[in-house]
Amino acid sequence: MALSICAIASEAAPFAKTGGLADVTAALTKYLAGAGHDVRLFVPLYSSVDRARFPLSPAGISRSTTLGAHTYAWSVHIAALPNSSARVHMVDCPALYARGGLYTSDGDDHRRFLLLTRAALECCQHLGFQPDILHCHDWHAAFGPLFLRTLYGWDRLFAGTRSVLTIHNIGYQGVFAAHDAADLGLGDNAHLLHQDDLKAGRINALKHGCMYADAITTVSPTYAREIRTPQYGMGLEDILRARGAALTGILNGVDYDEWDPRTDRYVDLNYDASSVSVKGELKARLLTRLHLPVAAGVPLIGMVSRLAAQKGIELTLAALPRLLAARKLAFVALGSGEGGYEYALGQLQRDFPGRVVCHRGYNEELAHWIEAAGDLFLMPSLYEPCGLNQMYSLRYGTVPVVRRTGGLADSVQPYDPATGTGTGIVFEEPSAAALEAALGGALGLYAQPQHWRRLQANGMAQDFSWARQGALYVALYEQLLA
Ligand code: ADP
Repeated sequence: MALSICAIASEAAPFAKTGGLADVTAALTKYLAGAGHDVRLFVPLYSSVDRARFPLSPAGISRSTTLGAHTYAWSVHIAALPNSSARVHMVDCPALYARGGLYTSDGDDHRRFLLLTRAALECCQHLGFQPDILHCHDWHAAFGPLFLRTLYGWDRLFAGTRSVLTIHNIGYQGVFAAHDAADLGLGDNAHLLHQDDLKAGRINALKHGCMYADAITTVSPTYAREIRTPQYGMGLEDILRARGAALTGILNGVDYDEWDPRTDRYVDLNYDASSVSVKGELKARLLTRLHLPVAAGVPLIGMVSRLAAQKGIELTLAALPRLLAARKLAFVALGSGEGGYEYALGQLQRDFPGRVVCHRGYNEELAHWIEAAGDLFLMPSLYEPCGLNQMYSLRYGTVPVVRRTGGLADSVQPYDPATGTGTGIVFEEPSAAALEAALGGALGLYAQPQHWRRLQANGMAQDFSWARQGALYVALYEQLLA
């Protein structure tokens, strides 16, 4: 049965991306459209969207919406999602989206995404588009399920609509001050807000999604278990436990149109499992480009990451200097984020000249080069809802070194030299010593070509395509509608 799906998210690649969320919303939309469903994805038209690269056409919808004491004029533009028949609806509201970045710490950040959510639902009304499923991503869209029952509960258009909240990262919950409650426009339904939070002076967007969505998903089965515990639930564990089987985990897929060494358009040379030695040439070229005079046989460890505590940057900064001092290896990191980490990585580069490059910033091309040219890929995350780079690394024959958490645990199997099974190096303890030991083990295997080739081949044979993962979302939608 072809379904109608309204999806709401703060990011969609390639238009607006800070991390994996953008990859997932775009790829899931592409999968759903390809499978014959009518999917409309709504995202903000940020001022950073490159209109020269992505032509937009007006959808003929101009309205204004009042959030508390604020009234915002908005309109909708449509962009074609590359390699897909799907169209992305971009909500144009310069008063809210013409800012320095996708996210801000401005006092109206909650209104930026309340408007997005309401504009998506009002656009459905305007278009007469009757969604079977309202799919809300992260805190930005998490009031969608409650709005369906309240502000738009009168409209028969939504009478059959079931809601799904996908949690891509529970570390970001969209908390704002209770004195902004009027911005939600709930009126007589304000009692549906989490009352203890209100008394404590705050409103937590993600929590309301967890309370009112018909189904909650997160982006790996392990993370779905983890966020029910105080260690990982970031305060939402009780509510999530109470929702029982309504919470499930669906591992993200990989868009192999973008991330496949056989067709990668960013790197000079393409390869597959039978020509993996091409990586050596790519490594030489990357090292030359980065001015790292490292001999061919020296292993190259790569890292591409948002620089946030979640990503285990502190473990990296503690473990790498000792390893670099003791062993022959090179390290290339790409990332941006917290200033302290950016500085510390810069210091690592200064401490190990000619062996370490820490490139600050966001750079799609360099990210592909690091995946293709690296020998190992480092992801020592303290928590990781899914993680995409470890899955990219597997396909590129770049052996991932990961901590056993969330999606890392679900996508990388520890290599067992006795049986030759497994796809990466997995460690447990979130400590620098455990990371150092894991990297030591990885370098030991690198020195044994028969094991290394096996590890690479095992990883390259893995398939995390959306064809499989997307079907799991459709099965969930169908189950909700049954
Ligand atoms: P998260 O969403 O927590 O940042 P994921 O591993 O799920 O982590 O997704 C990260 C995505 O963002 C990947 O596609 C990765 O290549 C990309 N990425 C992260 N930082 C950078 C950067 N500095 N430059 C280019 N791409 C980046």
